[in-house]
Amino acid sequence: MPVYTADALILRTYKLGEADRIVVFLTRDRGKKRGVAKGARRPRSRYVGALEPMTRADVAYYEREQRELVRLNYVDTVRSPLSASTAEALGHVGYFAELIDEWAPEAHADERLFRLGASMIDAVASGAAPEVLARYFEYWLLRLQGVYPGLACAGCGTVFERGAGAVMGPREHVFACRACAPAGGTSLSPEAVGFLRAAGRIGPGAAGQLPLSAAAARELETAHRRLINLHLDKELKSARILREIAGR
Ligand SMILES: [Zn+2]
Repeated sequence: MPVYTADALILRTYKLGEADRIVVFLTRDRGKKRGVAKGARRPRSRYVGALEPMTRADVAYYEREQRELVRLNYVDTVRSPLSASTAEALGHVGYFAELIDEWAPEAHADERLFRLGASMIDAVASGAAPEVLARYFEYWLLRLQGVYPGLACAGCGTVFERGAGAVMGPREHVFACRACAPAGGTSLSPEAVGFLRAAGRIGPGAAGQLPLSAAAARELETAHRRLINLHLDKELKSARILREIAGR
């Protein structure tokens, strides 16, 4: 039986039987895997604290012929999201994990998605504003999947330069300039469009420093939720919980 070691992100776990857990994790080199962590629910288990969503860990696992589930040998925490100090930050960590789990195909390596996820743990741990990180993360996640609309008008082709606002029409999932946009839909202020333009140019380590007002963050949240719900064909549980915590 081949044993693999990997740099991995823990995404979620499920109970299995009396004492075990199934762990869904994203490896840097071989994509998303599901593995059994024997005894993980016992109080003295060596997995205690290592299976929180978005834990970055060194894992070892082996694959069994004809079985989808791998067997975990160990999970050694490299960086834990539990170092995040606020409930808001921890709530967002769960959201990042759920988004990655939904988008990452099984056993298909995606180095850029892995690096994006790993960088979010570092940014949260360094105290970056979770809501700003979330809008940055959504933008890049959707972009890496090739489904983020271009920052130009779908009607006349005008590229959104500095100071331009945009509209995502009520049934459309692309951006239009104000002149071409149909009535209704989701408006993005010049500030929100400016954030997207900046997010496209900077790395995740600096994302937390991007200026973003609460109002512009709301606009982006709404537009991104529409894109995510369209492509996943559902609303994420963690996204709903975050909105409830924020009282929206
Ligand atoms: Zn236009």
